[in-house]
Amino acid sequence: MTKQLLLGQTLGFDGDALADWQGATRHDSAGGVVIDAGLIVATGSGAALRAAHPDAAVTDYGDALISAGFVDAHMHYPQTPIIASWGKQLIDWLNTYTFPQEMRLADTDYARQVADTTLDLALAHGTTTLTSFCTIHPGSVDAWFEGAAARGMAVVGGKTCMDRNAPDGLRDTVQSAYDDSKALLDRWHGKGRATYAITPRFSPTSTPDQLAALGALWAERPEVLMQTHLSEQLPEIAWVRDLFPQSRDYLDTYEAFGLLGPKGLYGHAIHLEPREIDRLAEIDAAVVHCPTSNTFIGSGLFDMAGLAARGLRIGLATDTGGGSNFSMLRTMAAAYEIGQLRGTPLHPAQLMWLATEGSARSLHMGGQIGHLGVGSAADITVLDLSSTPAIAQRAAQATDIWEALFPTIMMGDDRAVRDVWVGGVRARV
Ligand SMILES: [Zn+2]
Repeated sequence: MTKQLLLGQTLGFDGDALADWQGATRHDSAGGVVIDAGLIVATGSGAALRAAHPDAAVTDYGDALISAGFVDAHMHYPQTPIIASWGKQLIDWLNTYTFPQEMRLADTDYARQVADTTLDLALAHGTTTLTSFCTIHPGSVDAWFEGAAARGMAVVGGKTCMDRNAPDGLRDTVQSAYDDSKALLDRWHGKGRATYAITPRFSPTSTPDQLAALGALWAERPEVLMQTHLSEQLPEIAWVRDLFPQSRDYLDTYEAFGLLGPKGLYGHAIHLEPREIDRLAEIDAAVVHCPTSNTFIGSGLFDMAGLAARGLRIGLATDTGGGSNFSMLRTMAAAYEIGQLRGTPLHPAQLMWLATEGSARSLHMGGQIGHLGVGSAADITVLDLSSTPAIAQRAAQATDIWEALFPTIMMGDDRAVRDVWVGGVRARV
């Protein structure tokens, strides 16, 4: 693999941009990144890197912005074909659109097709890592990891487990959820760039016995992640209360069965009780913000400022297909809008940090992906900051990088993605 030198504006982070974006940000208007054997081996001034690495093949992106590739910390690849389906809130959404669609992935060839489409759409949008729920079918997990391996992508995935409140054909059992998850975990976790996540969909679709079995599996294999949903909509929370009358709150339905831990990823986490926030903070678990989904499904306004102040790990995610867009740019825009509605808007640096470093940290992969720094995987996205006439005319007025970048965050889409590198190899986008 030839050593590569990418030249352009560079934007990277060291530290926590939610706490101190100015201190955490590294921007170089004439920067460069050297990649070798799949890793970033140097960053800095473009001219200095060119002099230090005369043997590197040079790709000059001009004034385009070189960033770490985007990291999507929560999505559902099986739902790609039903993205942008009209008019339902969570429970009706699942019954009307999601479950019939997920049933189709019993056919592994179809699952492969959907996985391939999703991974290609992600790359076209500059997303180099995805964290997906698969379906109850083990073949859907194989399809996901095989598709990612073919593209060299670091992805997270797991077999979704459901043994109640789901239709015939979309339920497993206590035993099969444990056995299948364990077999898939053994087959995939740590193979190439694959990371396994034990995946109960959410408390309403698992019996206490199934939650306990998955908690036992996680205790046996604490190195893997665990992903699920938490406190997305008020009717869902009321339903959880009915189903688990002995539980103190929604989080307790996981905690009581061994499904609360530092490697836990709790998607949505909108309507949290004070005890739940305390416990998530104590445990150092991650919550994942899915802003386009929260507005599209009508769920509520995530408290980014409040949870960040508690030091929680926070990832950013599309939640495709409850989320309404494949783009992490659009996802950042929605996070900004939700911040505005709460009176706590995020700075463009914080939005970019969330879409790269923040999500990587939520996955316990900080410094390995989502990071434009030495030693990180060379998963890189290059953004054209003038990709449409509307964006270009606004960016032309910019007096600094943030004014130049923000129009692309708010109005950009896959046309803004000039190039993508995955593991040091240029991906076709
Ligand atoms: Zn979800």
